[in-house]
Amino acid sequence: MQNPFHSPRIDALRKGGSMELPNGQRVLFPRAFGFCGGVRHAVDLLAGALEKGRCVWLLGAMIHNPSVNSWFIQNGAVLCDEPSRIFDLAQPQDVFVVPAFGLPVGLTEQLESWVQPPGRIVDATCAFVQHVWAAAQTAGCNGSAVVVHGKSGHQETESIWSRATLFAPACVLLSTLEEARAFAKQRILPPRVTHPELLDKLPWTLVNQTTVLSQETLAVAELLDSSPWHQAAFTPSGTVCPATRARQEAALELCHAACDVILVIGGTDSSNTTQLYRLATTVLPPERCLFLEDEHCLTIDTIRHYNPTTGKWQCSPIQLLRSSSQIGILAGASCPDSSLDALLNSLVVSG
Ligand code: SF4
Repeated sequence: MQNPFHSPRIDALRKGGSMELPNGQRVLFPRAFGFCGGVRHAVDLLAGALEKGRCVWLLGAMIHNPSVNSWFIQNGAVLCDEPSRIFDLAQPQDVFVVPAFGLPVGLTEQLESWVQPPGRIVDATCAFVQHVWAAAQTAGCNGSAVVVHGKSGHQETESIWSRATLFAPACVLLSTLEEARAFAKQRILPPRVTHPELLDKLPWTLVNQTTVLSQETLAVAELLDSSPWHQAAFTPSGTVCPATRARQEAALELCHAACDVILVIGGTDSSNTTQLYRLATTVLPPERCLFLEDEHCLTIDTIRHYNPTTGKWQCSPIQLLRSSSQIGILAGASCPDSSLDALLNSLVVSG
């Protein structure tokens, strides 16, 4: 099956970094952007599974990018939005693809004992996600409380949380810096915690979802380390993945490179894309940082963009782009090159 997400033009930009539009505007790309190795591997595994001609079930969104998920669905994959319902929907002889985020441990065990033959599970869980699982398991088995920093409800965070709660005597899930501050300084428990009565007696280990903001997870670690109600050892595991870290560092560099406006491209439910948007707003005024789901957000007279802080869509006049001489583009680990290529075409049309 041919890779529909590739673009030779974007590949060339990965080496060159910028291009000039016909109207003289310059479009700048960061040093690192787009699909990471884990996503590429997951996409290749799913494409390979579809070639076998069986019914292929996708256990949750493959990655958090609607154009990638839709392409696979149009080409025969069946999306099971609620993986715990798979046993009512599928046959044990079907093929099941575990996305890059992994699955909760209980569901994985249930699936492994149900699928026949067992080889029909295609596991695309990223090695860096498995590394977080191992860190949580080791800490828990050594008697440490495990604090998970990640977005509650996100597939990856749920897969980590299921392992932390299986192995650790006490667990805490911190979704935001505010929750971490309230927890560390005022002993205000977040909504998801197990055995809080043990927390002041145990050492704490912090693990994080691979795609959180590096700076934020460092701030969470500092808060926990200096928490007055915690007397035992504290270990930060530092489980932000290298691809996320590289994209965040490169994004900051680009935002400081005299860009008049920054376009952040990707799925609105993508953690790593949202973090790139948040980083951009620390450098440029928020009205000059626009989160676009895809090229269709640009029309001849408006820019339709998403605000992750309010969770709302809004429109800005296209003049905002036309009056910019340097346009920076940020794309997280779940954004395909094909989407960036289409965006360049839209910039030419609307410029
Ligand atoms: S962002 Fe990191 S953890 Fe997620 S798939 Fe890519 S490499 Fe793996």
